[in-house]
Amino acid sequence: MKIIDRLKEHKIHISFEVFPPKTDEGFEKVASAVDTMAQLEPAFISVTYGAGGGTSKNTAKIASHIKNDLGVLSLAHLTCASSTKEEVRKVIHNLKEQGIENILALRGDIPSDMPFPDKGRFRYAYELVEEIRKHGDFCIGAACYPEGHVENEHKEDDIRYLKQKVDSGVDFLTTQMFFDNDIHYNFLYRIREAGITVPVLPGIMPITSASQMKRSQELSGTIFPRRFLAILDRFGSSPGAMRQAGIAYATDQIIDLLANGVKNIHIYTMNKPDVAAAIMGNLSEIIKA
Ligand SMILES: Cc1cc2nc3c(=O)[nH]c(=O)nc-3n(C[C@H](O)[C@H](O)[C@H](O)COP(=O)(O)OP(=O)(O)OC[C@H]3O[C@@H](n4cnc5c(N)ncnc54)[C@H](O)[C@@H]3O)c2cc1C
Repeated sequence: MKIIDRLKEHKIHISFEVFPPKTDEGFEKVASAVDTMAQLEPAFISVTYGAGGGTSKNTAKIASHIKNDLGVLSLAHLTCASSTKEEVRKVIHNLKEQGIENILALRGDIPSDMPFPDKGRFRYAYELVEEIRKHGDFCIGAACYPEGHVENEHKEDDIRYLKQKVDSGVDFLTTQMFFDNDIHYNFLYRIREAGITVPVLPGIMPITSASQMKRSQELSGTIFPRRFLAILDRFGSSPGAMRQAGIAYATDQIIDLLANGVKNIHIYTMNKPDVAAAIMGNLSEIIKA
């Protein structure tokens, strides 16, 4: 089944994200986390793609396990900046062979160890979207950035390029993490004005430790609101308290989104089934209402 068809159902959809093991030996551990998450009945589980494509086989393997062994929709991420066009085509072919119908098409970060741009590799995600479209009937998702992408100084350019990407064949968008819902509402308003009409899944990252917050900020350049910083300041050095407060903060963001009419939410659960379960427990009646 395609994710876009699921998103068309008139109900609330909560999806999760995991990352693949770096080595074959790590497979069982990730598979076990995914097995527990599947019991929480997510709308789908997405599997990230390691920078440089080094873990591409494991992305496909976990995505295939989710779909074929657990019967849950899976979404395989795919990046293109560090791989040749031929390597990318091989990965698409492999995903097709594994029966994966949903791909999140990404450029990936600009590689520091090879020239970029380079005519042997795709330069932007929209080129990857065009390539995937040539390989048959995939449902294609792509990334978007409520606070603007870090490389782009002007938010309006970012939205113009996002429109180009969507028009090249994107079925739905997932946002970068954000911690202030008003930023998301403002972004939604601006992209709808720009004529982008596909479903947008807000990406919620539960921050359960001070070190995770630091990593998230480095990765995404996101703004942490004062309310979040106060939590970190007060509870950051008490692991149990920070975990509880981080789960409560993410739950609160999700409840606000749902109360404001959002129907589809993606949680960056990473490989933490306990965090996914705690949030789903907090929402058990809310998602039925
Ligand atoms: C939901 C989500 C999931 C992610 N998953 C992964 C993952 O699994 N693995 C991983 O390595 N990374 C992942 N990333 C990170 C992502 O790869 C980086 O943010 C990357 O820097 C940009 O990827 P993109 O697909 O958004 O690129 P693009 O859409 O190509 O945009 C990249 C930059 O180029 C600009 N741009 C786009 N088109 C044009 C154009 N025609 N002319 C000029 N400028 C243009 C954009 O405004 C933007 O600044 C994810 C990000 C998100 C939000």
